[in-house]
Order: sequence, then structure tokens, then C-alpha cells
Amino acid sequence: MSIFEYAPAPESRAIVSLKPSYGLFIGGEFVDGSGSFKSISPSSEEVLAEVAEASEADVDRAVAAARKAYEQVWGKMSGAERAKYLFRIARIIQERGRELAVLESLDNGKPIRESRDVDIPLVAAHFFYYAGWADKLDHAGFGASPRPLGVAGQIIPWNFPLLMLAWKIAPALACGNTVVLKPAETTPLTALLFAEICQQAELPPGVVNILTGAGAAGAALVAHPDVDKVAFTGSTEVGRIIARTVAGTNKRVTLELGGKAANIVFEDAPVDQAVEGIVNGIFFNQGHVCCAGSRLLVQESISEEVLESLKRRMSTLRVGDPLDKNTDIGAINSAEQLARIKELTAAGEQEGAEAWSPPCELPSRGFWFRPTIFTGVSQAHRIAREEIFGPVLSVLTFRTPAEAVEKANNTPYGLSAGIWTEKGSRILAVADQLRAGVVWANTFNKFDPTSPFGGYKESGYGREGGRHGLEAYLAH
Ligand code: NAD
Repeated sequence: MSIFEYAPAPESRAIVSLKPSYGLFIGGEFVDGSGSFKSISPSSEEVLAEVAEASEADVDRAVAAARKAYEQVWGKMSGAERAKYLFRIARIIQERGRELAVLESLDNGKPIRESRDVDIPLVAAHFFYYAGWADKLDHAGFGASPRPLGVAGQIIPWNFPLLMLAWKIAPALACGNTVVLKPAETTPLTALLFAEICQQAELPPGVVNILTGAGAAGAALVAHPDVDKVAFTGSTEVGRIIARTVAGTNKRVTLELGGKAANIVFEDAPVDQAVEGIVNGIFFNQGHVCCAGSRLLVQESISEEVLESLKRRMSTLRVGDPLDKNTDIGAINSAEQLARIKELTAAGEQEGAEAWSPPCELPSRGFWFRPTIFTGVSQAHRIAREEIFGPVLSVLTFRTPAEAVEKANNTPYGLSAGIWTEKGSRILAVADQLRAGVVWANTFNKFDPTSPFGGYKESGYGREGGRHGLEAYLAH
């Protein structure tokens, strides 16, 4: 129990004016779709809006609009001109940042502290960063005059809805491509507000098209013959389907898939700092993070001390209303995701691992899961191998650096890893042996638009972010 009780500090939702229903954004306008579905708030199960569902014919219309905009306007425009639009979009995102943050927390369930301080500032930063590249592509290291690819079909998940949109759209537009983007079915609303921002920025019609809908709309977009490039972030399972669909075509593809990252704490690490990093690694965004530090590897000699300190810290985490500025852990994004987390944690207990959660009251409506750690985990357990994508940490121990590296790499994934130690030489030696796209040292879950991000093995291929992120959108 904390000594002081917090008074509620709710962020007002009055800044968001939701329409009762939204169409598809094609050719610069909102148009009717073939069907519709509801987007609900996972923290209250309240219906937020009715959203159009794209059919195959709608995918055709959107790709045609993107092709026309590419041929007639965007593909011909100078980089300096394209940059003006991207800078304008970045500035509008900053100006409307609070509105976007509140809407993101409503639709996704993530704490307002995170959408306000992490997601939305990073979204603006991505647009600023790639705006800066638009007129310098000749000097990016991809040949003297790299050309855009054409129309990009982009599909994103629900865990960082607007941030994933920015990772996809900003580099594509900077390089001169036009896009058709499909947000995830449970979190379409900030993408639709982004469509309004494109209108406000007077982006030429058809340069950005947003199709709301489920997996079938995504599949139709991937298979569309007039799409030149596919960019996907989501599960490894769907990534495999997409790789099969584009095999044998001329389409370029990048896949950002799942992860099961090791967060490795050596005995010389500053324990309090490491515990903050462990908490940030697995409880940030309810653990709905592809690069979450979901496997804690702690050196045996300090494991008791670290676990004690971690449990004490976890007892101070506040779970509840995403719009309360004191909330650390918000709602699980959907009933399906909650069922998956419950299924995997039940398997953990059946296989003999021991679960621990701090006492905390959960709201009566909505989808919630207590922050949980499992001890007594073996490498063969499902909770040590499969991505839980929730606030659940599996704790394993090791004795030597070599054992830590072996256990960390013992996964079909390879997206990220963390190293906690006082020794710089150990950071370099261990990082060098980890098969992971991103390795953090004495920190975790740090993102920056200038830094490339992507995976090894079943975590996918291609890089997003930084100069490397341009390559996926340029013919050279
Ligand atoms: P998902 O793969 O089910 O869905 C992702 C998107 O793909 C959604 O928009 C969905 O509608 C669409 N989709 C579904 N079936 C499709 C198909 N056959 N063809 C084309 N599109 C299809 O994943 P999810 O449950 O929404 O997201 C969680 C997963 O995403 C996790 O496994 C997580 O690790 C991964 N993820 C990875 C990264 C990364 O950068 N590597 C980032 C975020 C999330």
C-alpha cells in the first residue's frame, strides 16, 4: 500500500468530438463503405463510433485513387515540395496532440500518460524526421537518384495505432510513394482523425487513403495487382500468409512481426534502475509491445534481491481508467486479447510455473489483467516461448554470461533485447552475440525516429526508422 492515496486526475474527453459514424477515406474524401462495424472503448465497452468496413471493391477504388495521385501529382513532385506537406502534417499533429492522445487512449485503452508523452510526440517526430529526408534522398546512400516504388499497401496492428501509421506513412510519402493504409479493426479512430489532418494540410487527394476493415480487407490489399510495395506490422502468423501471397510477384515487402525479448540483468547492475527497466520493459502499454522485455533473465546471485524489489515496485502500479493521469496500466485492447492472455497464463500454471500479482482492484466493466510475474519458469514452458502480448513477465535465471546469451537466443524470434550491467565491455560483448534487431543497454523500450527498428528470424525482415527505413520505399 502506498502511504499517500492518489485523488483521481481524469483528462477531459471534451476535446474529442467523435462523429457517430465514419466512412472510408479514398481520394481525399470520406465515402461510404460496403458494410460497417463498431469501435468500442476497451476500458468501458462503450461504443465510440460506427466505422465503414472496406470490401474488395473498396480496395480497388482506394488503390486506383493512390495510383492516380502517384502518376499525376506526388510521384512527380520535387522532394522539397513533398517536405512542405510532411512538415505541415507534423505541425498539425503537434497542435492537435491532446485531441489525438485522448482519442488514442479511448479507442486503444492505453494510459493517457503514455499516449500523451510517448505515442503522439513520437508520431510528430517521425513526420518531422522524414520530412527532412524528402529533398535529400540523392544523398541517402541508395544511388544518385533513387526513385519511389509507386503505391504502397500498408497494414498495421492495434497496439500503437497512430505511431504505427506514422512509421508506415511518413517514409513512404517522403520517398514519393502514395499509400493505402488499413488500421486494425479494434483501433481505427486515430487513423480516421489523421485522414482529417491530411485534408487540413491540403495534401493532394489520393496520396493517403485509409481503409478501415478486418483481415479480409488487408488480404485484398496485399493481393492487389496494382500495389508495388507491402508493409505489414502484426503477428507472425499473418506475416507468413502475406509472405506467401507476395511470393513470385514483383512486390517489395517488409514484415515487422512478434517478439519474445530477453531482458538480461547481470549481478553488477544497479538494481533499482534495472527494476525500473524491467517494469518499463513489460508493463509499458499493458505489455502489448512486440519488443516487450517479456523474458527476464536475472543472474542467480541477485535473483532474490531483484524479485523482492520488483514485487515491491509492482505493488505501486496503478491499474485502471486510461484517461486518469495517474494510471500506469490501462485496459487490455480487446476481449479476444484478454482471452489469449488468460489462456497462456493458465498454461503457465498448469506447466508448473508460479504466478504472482500485486493485490489490485480491477474495474467491473472493460477488459483488464493484473500485472503478473511467473517464477519457476523453464525454457520449455509455453510462457517462455510464446508471445503473450500482455502484462505478464516470465522470470528465468542464469549463472554465466554464456548461459545468458544462450537462453536469450533460444527463441524463434529476434526483435529486441536488454542488458543491465555496470561494465561497458560486457555490454559490447553480450550485445554482439544477441540475435536481436535492437539491443538496449541500461534502458528499455526507447524509440527514436532516427534509429532503425526490425527483426531477425520470425520477427520479420526489413527495417523501419532512420535512414535504413527509406530503403524499403525506394527503387535503386
Ligand atoms: P494481426 O496480425 O492479427 O493483425 C495485424 C493487422 O493485420 C490488422 O490490421 C489485421 O486486420 C490485419 N490482418 C489480419 N489478417 C490478415 C490477412 N490475412 N492479410 C492481411 N492483413 C491481415 O496482429 P494483431 O493481433 O493485430 O497485433 C499483434 C501482433 O503484432 C503481435 O504478435 C505483435 O508482436 C505484432 N507487432 C509487431 C510489431 C513490430 O514492429 N514488429 C509492432 C506491433 C505489433
